[in-house]
Amino acid sequence: MTIIKVIKGTKDILPQDAGAWQRLEAKALEVFSKYGYREIRTPIFEATELFARGVGDTTDIVNKEMYTFEKSDRSLTLRPENTAGVVRSFIENGMARLSAPVKLWYKGPMFRYERPQAGRQRQFHQVGVEMFGIKESSADAEVIMLAVDYLKSLGLNDLVVELNSLGCPKCREEYKAKIKEVLKPEFENLCEDCQNRYEKNPLRLLDCKVESCKAIFEKPEIQKVIQSDFICEECAEHYSSLKTYLDKLGVKYVENKLLVRGLDYYNRTVFEIKSNNLGSQNAVCGGGRYDSLVKNLGGEDTPAVGWAMGMERLNSLLPEVEPEKLDGYIVSNSPLEAFALAQELRDAGKRVEFDLSNKKFTKQLEKASKTANFALILGEDEINLNKVSVKNLETSEQVTVDRNMVLNQLEK
Ligand SMILES: [Zn+2]
Ligand SMILES: [Zn+2]
Repeated sequence: MTIIKVIKGTKDILPQDAGAWQRLEAKALEVFSKYGYREIRTPIFEATELFARGVGDTTDIVNKEMYTFEKSDRSLTLRPENTAGVVRSFIENGMARLSAPVKLWYKGPMFRYERPQAGRQRQFHQVGVEMFGIKESSADAEVIMLAVDYLKSLGLNDLVVELNSLGCPKCREEYKAKIKEVLKPEFENLCEDCQNRYEKNPLRLLDCKVESCKAIFEKPEIQKVIQSDFICEECAEHYSSLKTYLDKLGVKYVENKLLVRGLDYYNRTVFEIKSNNLGSQNAVCGGGRYDSLVKNLGGEDTPAVGWAMGMERLNSLLPEVEPEKLDGYIVSNSPLEAFALAQELRDAGKRVEFDLSNKKFTKQLEKASKTANFALILGEDEINLNKVSVKNLETSEQVTVDRNMVLNQLEK
């Protein structure tokens, strides 16, 4: 019979790798709780319309990458990101009535139909935060600080925050018009993606990775427009006050006018965080402010800011997690007695295993030395005397103690 294999672009997280994932999740809970963020878990599929309206119908995600299917005449989609779902839940559960800010975080699988390549999967995982209800730049500063804090708690140092302000819908329209105007003579030389985005979303052109496009954007007359200070006074104030916060908090940042992010809904602050771990520079976090999204999805006008991180990327930058050893492995020819002792110790919170198939003593000792800190030997003599021989597998030191003293011995 043919063997059924895992679907292309998806992966099993095997037991030996699960520790690394548990580390990401445990640190998220620990660090985000310090800032008052609470976890939200939304479904992994939603109405397709949510993403069309919430992520933006000019994005690659919505146009090319969604897993969409029909069920009972409804079009459903596996979530390609989680901001839209969190906003849907925020609106549906009346969270706008709660006193601001509402601070939420999430983790879980997302789905995009992309060409699988190193480090990019079709089912991938993100951890992220969203803060609702605060328009002041203190909120932008807090989510950035939180991201930096989380990355540092994982051991990622040498972080640089890249920062930009996209302005508000009002001032950005003028900028878009200027970008279009200055790129018009170059239209025929732009790549196909850029040509397609030129009308609807000209800012997206700026983060095109095609070399010939990058070369065009380097031309002095085009650079002049890109680097111009187009944002209005209010937006400029918001941006400058965010930088004041980051300075005060000692967060290193660089400004990058080419940073526009792939999603349509951002306004004012956008940022990415790069890590120089392992030699090369890697973007580990992306986010920004999205003040119009809640309203666009039918809620009350509510400012919001957030970010997401790819968990596969984080794990690839971190050292592997060594599996934790058992506290004890019981070596005995009496599975009955071994089971009873194991249960006593498990009840006391210890991680203990014993041989379930009554293998030879030497085999059991071998297993103990590979998997545990202590071998708990329960031979015939020990059983008769109600004792246990406890062998420290690191030092090979062995003592025989009363059965009710085993716990003590494990804690030495
Ligand atoms: Zn503005
Ligand atoms: Zn291009």
